[in-house]
Amino acid sequence: MSEIAGNISLIKSKLPDNVKLVAVSKTHPAEAVKEAYLAGQRIFGENKVQELVSKYEELKDLDIKWHLIGHLQTNKVKYIASFVDMIHSVDSLKLLEEIDKHSEKNSRVTDCLLQFHIATEETKFGLDLSEAEEILNSAGFKGLKNVKICGVMGMASFSDDESLIRTEFSELRSIYNKLKQTYFSDHTYFSELSMGMSSDWNIAIEEGSTMIRVGSIIFGNRNYLLK
Ligand SMILES: *Cc1c(COP(=O)(O)O)cnc(C)c1O
Repeated sequence: MSEIAGNISLIKSKLPDNVKLVAVSKTHPAEAVKEAYLAGQRIFGENKVQELVSKYEELKDLDIKWHLIGHLQTNKVKYIASFVDMIHSVDSLKLLEEIDKHSEKNSRVTDCLLQFHIATEETKFGLDLSEAEEILNSAGFKGLKNVKICGVMGMASFSDDESLIRTEFSELRSIYNKLKQTYFSDHTYFSELSMGMSSDWNIAIEEGSTMIRVGSIIFGNRNYLLK
């Protein structure tokens, strides 16, 4: 078994049945994705549009579900709308409207997650609860037919303070529960809580994650210089 295959099977053996693994392949070549694919992995995450498009093109023959997990600029939606399986990083109504427009052009409905800012760091993208509610209550949102909000995504602080990370994940779970109750109680598709990365996925699962986004513990460290 290859190293990548071994890493995947080890992680999968520890995942509860209801938790999906998004293999984050950013900065790693298409061959690495293919190796993971051959080990049975089907969902892959990329954080940059250009890299996502080029890997999609290169691996078009494989039945891969491509997830965009990084920040998305409205002017780049058109490059991915025809094939992306899920967008984890929706953080504005304007972006949702653009995804809707291009999904319609492609006769598709695109699954989306609302990204929340739960970390203490300033730099991370994402909404707070009131901003999300403003979107969900807006007339603009209610008119959208080609996007489906399937849940929420967030990133915990980059920290070795386990209790801080746990608190942040737990906060995201409360946001998820609140939105589900208030806006999606009769929509079973609102069911995803995307949280947990290589360093904190165990905690994320204990706090209710349904989707972990894991890169370096599958593919090894990223070498941005060689990208
Ligand atoms: C890179 C990235 C991950 C995976 O990070 P690892 O620490 O390598 O597991 C998860 N989520 C997002 C949004 C990322 O950009």
